[in-house]
Amino acid sequence: MAKNVAVCLSFDFDAISLWIGGFRATSLSAVSRGEFGRVGALRILEMLREWGVRATWFIPGHTAETYPAVVEKVVGAGHEIGNHGYLHSRPKDAADEERILVRGNEVLQRVTGKRPVGYRSPGAGLSVHMVALLLKHGFVYDSSLMGDDFSPYYCRTGDRQHEDGRYEFGCEVDLVELPFTWGLDDFPAFEYVTSRAGIQQGLMAPSAVYEIWAGDFDFLYRRIGEGVYTLTMHPQVIGRGHRLLMLERLVTHIRSHDGVRFATMGEVACEWKRTHPLSVAAGR
Ligand SMILES: [Zn+2]
Repeated sequence: MAKNVAVCLSFDFDAISLWIGGFRATSLSAVSRGEFGRVGALRILEMLREWGVRATWFIPGHTAETYPAVVEKVVGAGHEIGNHGYLHSRPKDAADEERILVRGNEVLQRVTGKRPVGYRSPGAGLSVHMVALLLKHGFVYDSSLMGDDFSPYYCRTGDRQHEDGRYEFGCEVDLVELPFTWGLDDFPAFEYVTSRAGIQQGLMAPSAVYEIWAGDFDFLYRRIGEGVYTLTMHPQVIGRGHRLLMLERLVTHIRSHDGVRFATMGEVACEWKRTHPLSVAAGR
């Protein structure tokens, strides 16, 4: 059977927002870790240009306002921009979530001239309210859930969880999930973090991460043959030299296969919707 694999390189350009929003850090050292995201982003843009690959950048509103010139370069190079909240913080409630989503959209629209169609929840913490909010605000896809790996699927609303009975699945809705996984994310693998929550060791050898990332691609290609391979990276993490060399090695490996194409997540989600129309049958 002919292979048909889409490869999506995604970059969460969290920059400083991750440290002051996500980790509530105040030191200049913490802020400077986010500043390195600018350096990494410029390196990545250059490499993507060389490879002729268009990627998907999830950008918090705070980053778009802090680094508008870099974001303009991302847009100018033809990459897709997705919504990644505003300050990489955890919302207080559903109303706060909608406010942050709308604020992120407004900033991205202002800086990039385009409305995002994709969303990734900061810290992969998609709440029970968010699917309905994404539908309400016209999003085509989300990339924060882990219910599959290489097969997109429709998100659901109305799931109900019970401690004394089975889990009840709600109705599939017109929002495509392009699955995310921490195993194909550079942050836990590489980033050393000490926070109130404890220590994240990170700092893995790029050869070990290559084994995981290439292993998942090889499994998809050889044993499944059709699907979407999505990598989640952060310019401030993958942007270090030894890691970018690993990414280059991986892209070269992926490109040596027939029936593989690089695409933006928006393109993949729209194409998948066309070929897999939402059925009216609810649940699973
Ligand atoms: Zn993020």
